[in-house]
Amino acid sequence: MRLNILTKEGALINYYKPSSICPGVKKALQEIDKKCQWVIGNGAKIDLWRDCWAGKHSIHKGLNLPDHALKGCTLKLESLIQGLILRCPTHITHLLHLAGLSLHDVKKSTDEDYLVWWPDIKGHFSAQGAFQETRFKRPKVHWSKHVWNSYIHPKHAGTVWKLCSKATATDENIKKRGVTIASKCRHCGAQEESLIHLIWECVFAKEMWNWLAGKFKFRGTFTDMKEAIKLSKNSIPRVVHLWISAVFGGMTGLWKHRNKIFFQDKAVSKAFCEGIVRSHIITTSYLSKGHTEPSDVGIMNEWGIHMNVVAARRRIHCIWIPLAIAQVKLNIDGAAKGNLGPGGFGVSFRDHNGNFLYVLGGGLSNTTCYLAECTAIVEGVEAALSRGWNNLWVESYSSTAVTAANSSSMSWELLNRWKLCSRACTSLQVTHTWREANQEADIIAN
Ligand SMILES: [Zn+2]
Repeated sequence: MRLNILTKEGALINYYKPSSICPGVKKALQEIDKKCQWVIGNGAKIDLWRDCWAGKHSIHKGLNLPDHALKGCTLKLESLIQGLILRCPTHITHLLHLAGLSLHDVKKSTDEDYLVWWPDIKGHFSAQGAFQETRFKRPKVHWSKHVWNSYIHPKHAGTVWKLCSKATATDENIKKRGVTIASKCRHCGAQEESLIHLIWECVFAKEMWNWLAGKFKFRGTFTDMKEAIKLSKNSIPRVVHLWISAVFGGMTGLWKHRNKIFFQDKAVSKAFCEGIVRSHIITTSYLSKGHTEPSDVGIMNEWGIHMNVVAARRRIHCIWIPLAIAQVKLNIDGAAKGNLGPGGFGVSFRDHNGNFLYVLGGGLSNTTCYLAECTAIVEGVEAALSRGWNNLWVESYSSTAVTAANSSSMSWELLNRWKLCSRACTSLQVTHTWREANQEADIIAN
C-alpha cells in the first residue's frame, strides 16, 4: 500500500489516485514523517535529501525544495560514512546549515540504521502514541483532574462531565437554539432557568449546599464548583476525596431533581438530593485510598463510613557495602524543574576508601525528571571513563532509571552512548539506593 503512494525516489505522489483511503494515508504519513528521525548506523537505508537524520526535518523540507528539484537524487547517507564515522564534505555541511540543521543533532548507532518516533522516550512508534500526538487538543479545564479520578465512580463522573460541559437541556440552552419559551426555575419558580441558577444560585440549591458544608464542618460560602472544591484544600486526603464526591453528588442530585419535577410532576423534595449525595459519598468511601486522622472521626460518623488508618511506617534495613579495591563509586542524581523544564544533574565520585575523587555537575535544557536521571548516569560513566576509571559502581535513587540502565532500555537519545559506556567498562554495576544515601548528588543536581 505504501509503495503505491510513493514515487520511485520515495517522495509522496502529488497526483490524484482513485482510492478512498489514499488522501487519509498521505496525510497520516506526512504527520508521522514530521516526528521521525533516523539513528545512523551504516547509512544504507537513509536518503540524504528526503530523510530526517540531522535534526527534526530533512534537507528537502528545510530548504523548501519542490519535489521535481530532487528528481533522480537518490544518494544514500552510506556514501558519506567511512568506518562508522560520518564525514560530511563542506558543501553538505553548508547545505545543512542553510536548512536549519546541525551535525550536533545527528544520533549514531553501533548497529544498523533504525528509525525512531521521537515523541516516544524509547523511540517506538505506536498507533496510540501517534493518535495522542496528532489529535486536536483543547485547553485543559480545571475540573478534569477532579472528575476523572480513581475515587469517583465512572457513572458519577460521566454525569458531572456532562454538567461541566453544559450538555443539558435547560431552558437557557433551548432558548439559545432559537426556541421561544417562557422559562421558570422548577425549584423556586422565581427566576428563569439556567444551569448556573439551578445548581449554584437557586434558594433551594443554597439550602442544600449549606446543609452539606455543615456536615463536613466547612465554613465559608461558594458560588461555583471551583470555589466549592477549594474549601477542602487544607483537609486530609480522605476528607478531600469525600468532599469532592459530595459536591459532585450535590450537582447530580439537583439536576436529577429538576428532571423529576419536569418530567414526572413530582413535588420539590430536599431528601431526594440528600439521598443522591449520600450514595456518592458511600461509593467514594470504598474507592478512596486516602487515609484519615482521628480528628476526622466526626465527619466519618456523620456519613456512617469507616476510617482508613494510615499504615505504620516500615523500618528498612540498610547496610553499607565496602567497595572492592580500585572500584569507583558514582552517586548520581538528575532533576528537572516542573517535569518538563530546565534540568540539571550531579555526580560524585569516590574511591574504595570513601575519599572524594571528583564532583561533576551540569545543566540540561528542557527535559523530564526521568530523562535527567538517565542523562546523569550516562554523563557520570562517560566522565569516569575519560579519567581512566573503568571499574564502576553507579548508585541512583531513581529505580526506573536503574531498571532502564540494567535492561538497556534507555531513551533512544542516550541508548548508543550507554551501549558504548557499557562496553568500555571492565566492570559496571548500577544499583538503587535511598535518597538519604545520595544527598551530595541531590544537592549538586538541584
Ligand atoms: Zn431557582
